[in-house]
Amino acid sequence: MGENQIIVNAYAKLNLSIDVLGKRSDGYHQVSMLMQSISLHDEVSIYPSNGLTVECNNAAVPSGPDNLAYKAAELLKRETNYEGGARIVINKNIPVAAGLAGGSSDAAAVMLALNNLWGLRLTIGRLGHLAGRLGSDIPFCLLGGTCLATERGERLTLLPPAPHFWLVLAKPDFGVPTAQVYDNFDPQKVQKRPNNRVAVKAIEAGDRELLLQGMENVLESSTFRLYPQVEEIKELMYRYGVEKAMMCGSGPTVFGIARGKSHASEIVRRLQERNGIFVQVAETI
Ligand code: ATP
Repeated sequence: MGENQIIVNAYAKLNLSIDVLGKRSDGYHQVSMLMQSISLHDEVSIYPSNGLTVECNNAAVPSGPDNLAYKAAELLKRETNYEGGARIVINKNIPVAAGLAGGSSDAAAVMLALNNLWGLRLTIGRLGHLAGRLGSDIPFCLLGGTCLATERGERLTLLPPAPHFWLVLAKPDFGVPTAQVYDNFDPQKVQKRPNNRVAVKAIEAGDRELLLQGMENVLESSTFRLYPQVEEIKELMYRYGVEKAMMCGSGPTVFGIARGKSHASEIVRRLQERNGIFVQVAETI
């Protein structure tokens, strides 16, 4: 490892619940979401360099200026008039366009690391404000842990750690654009809404059963109409005995809460028998 190289983990996030409360005058949806960091992560290496470059080992992710990590670095430069650069190398493990906030997490990791490497001394509050301009999920990725997110997802209330879950993540072999899911969202077609007030109380009390009762994702109705395969994966999870299954974000990944680590491995084994599903075990952190 080079002397001044920094390596940071960029953790994926799950939404333990998503409620959409309405549309704001600026076109964004007003949401109420429970956010949770999980163990699955990208590794982001940052090397001192005069220019700014971003490389990623996954061909589905843009290298260079279109990468969210590049945009994060550029924003920090612009805001602070910093004149140096960095070489950023992303080792991608988080599936792309999966509803797991992979790009947002890389961007947040880069903001934290460059604040340090470049000696910018921006407070976490200032970083959070800048992050919110770049993407609604990035402020959460800066903080990590368990949070309630409101407004368009960028206003955060830090909660105590949620009860621990062993998870199975299953993603069909296509991506889902978040904007398409919101455009297709129809509140009349939502079957079950979460009870975030109850879910927050459950987290504060460490009450796992109550938390499971409060969790729902209203975006499922929209994604399931567009991509019925996603609902099929959710049904499979229940057939294999999960305590709860839910779509991640706007999809298409589905997470299942297993009854323990070995149950999670068993579900992975059974899902892997089906073609075209990326499956893996993770846990809340
Ligand atoms: P969101 O729900 O915020 O859309 P997601 O987890 O569904 O996030 P990402 O994996 O973040 O989706 O990727 C969304 C798109 O962003 C990808 O199609 C990709 O082209 C682009 N992208 C830009 N930078 C990155 C990055 N560092 N990692 C992943 N995707 C990136």
